[in-house]
Amino acid sequence: MKVFPAVALKDWACKRQDCDLYWSETERAAFGKDKWFASALPDVVALPHTAEAVAALLKFAGENQIPITPRGAGHGYVGGCVPVHGGISLSLERMNRILEVHPEDFVVVTQPGVITKELQDAVAKVKRYYPPDPASRADCSIGGNIATNAGGPRCLKYGVTRDYVLGLQVALMDGTLTRLGGRGHKNKTGFELSRLFVGSEGMLGIVTEATLKLLPLPEWRAALSFGYRTMEAAARAILALFDAGLLPSAVEIADAFTLQAARKRTGTKDFDGCEASLIVEVDGLREVTAIEIKRIREIGSMEDPVFIKEADGELACEQVWQTRREFSYSLRDTGLTKLNEDIVVPRSRLVDLIRFASALQKELQIPIACFGHAGDGNIHVNVMIDENDPRQIQAGDKALDRLFEQVINWGGALTGEHGVGLAKKPWWPLAADKSVQSLHKKIKTALDPQHLLNPGKFLD
Ligand SMILES: Cc1cc2nc3c(=O)[nH]c(=O)nc-3n(C[C@H](O)[C@H](O)[C@H](O)COP(=O)(O)OP(=O)(O)OC[C@H]3O[C@@H](n4cnc5c(N)ncnc54)[C@H](O)[C@@H]3O)c2cc1C
Repeated sequence: MKVFPAVALKDWACKRQDCDLYWSETERAAFGKDKWFASALPDVVALPHTAEAVAALLKFAGENQIPITPRGAGHGYVGGCVPVHGGISLSLERMNRILEVHPEDFVVVTQPGVITKELQDAVAKVKRYYPPDPASRADCSIGGNIATNAGGPRCLKYGVTRDYVLGLQVALMDGTLTRLGGRGHKNKTGFELSRLFVGSEGMLGIVTEATLKLLPLPEWRAALSFGYRTMEAAARAILALFDAGLLPSAVEIADAFTLQAARKRTGTKDFDGCEASLIVEVDGLREVTAIEIKRIREIGSMEDPVFIKEADGELACEQVWQTRREFSYSLRDTGLTKLNEDIVVPRSRLVDLIRFASALQKELQIPIACFGHAGDGNIHVNVMIDENDPRQIQAGDKALDRLFEQVINWGGALTGEHGVGLAKKPWWPLAADKSVQSLHKKIKTALDPQHLLNPGKFLD
């Protein structure tokens, strides 16, 4: 086995002074996992302060054949930043400055380690809006969002992270630091190379700076929460909203198991008697949101809801979303292990998916909780198992196989926002045919010939 060149790396860092290194086992363990189940110990954690240090570190890793795994805030859901082959865990958390907010150009220029919510709050101060809103936005980083092409509830109306990336500075394995794209809202100069790095899960290069598009901050937000007796009723209400020509900023659904867990965690009585809930939010001019809310109330009422609750304005809407953001944690509180799959189905398959999940849980005798971004068919299907019960572990594996196979057959996708990482690696061949796999490998090899950047993930 190759000996890790610790002395040479210490020497390197000492000369530069813009990259800290952590060597203790406790520190290394803290950087060896994310919010999924896998963990691995890197040989060292490197925390660069500058883009130049990142590029030089990649070059050092290449020259010494050391695996190097980028890491944002470690709030991924698929083990993407887990350094499975050891080597260097490259944390971007110290590159955490917003470099420029330019309200007239509608851009923000930022280092990758900035926390998403902090960036959103900073641009809101000058009446600008950065819409992508992963439920983890208070904890995850912009660099991680770019590398996973993160989405969230508002992506129904506003699109995902990809749609806001105007330009990137990227460090490559050969030590090159390059600028791709720019700060103009339109740019068709050459290939769209900046987008190649969006969603590349840290396997092609390291994002060291991002120029992101901003929108005008909507004047007002308003939302309606509905409780329904069945998931089918909620799904029908969603389709009726679209048929009426409405495009809400978010449409979120949750099933009975999720609502029960949320009740326990938050103490809310809101969902009593409900098997499903729907949150529909709109934004824009205040008068317009009032008209839309009235219309949504009429349409949602056609499915005979158990309750309708209105939230008018920023504060009231945030309270609604606070409960929604607790869903994931509520499922964890059940004590069961949550296999969270952020699958996507074509919109017309929403009711089919709900029926399929319900049949699967009956057949395999394990709970399956569904909630998520119903408006764009991106549902978090959570297979809940007791890890101490071998029968349930087996049933969980079977459930995932069956779920992914069905989703792909419907023309859907394994993952809408979390990425493939380690979690979905076994199903990558199911989702990508040979020609797609081969193209991925060619691009990977062109940029990282020794396959040292984030190794052990779905391309290995
Ligand atoms: C409670 C909870 C709710 C969530 N809800 C959502 C949601 O609604 N929508 C959603 O999309 N996701 C969601 N996620 C998943 C997760 O938060 C996102 O994937 C997020 O983008 C990860 O960001 P991070 O900074 O934590 O990245 P990390 O976990 O640190 O890394 C993620 C990936 O990005 C790579 N990477 C990180 N920084 C860089 C960089 N600068 N350059 C190159 N590669 C890099 C890593 O190698 C890794 O492959 C949720 C997670 C949790 C725990």
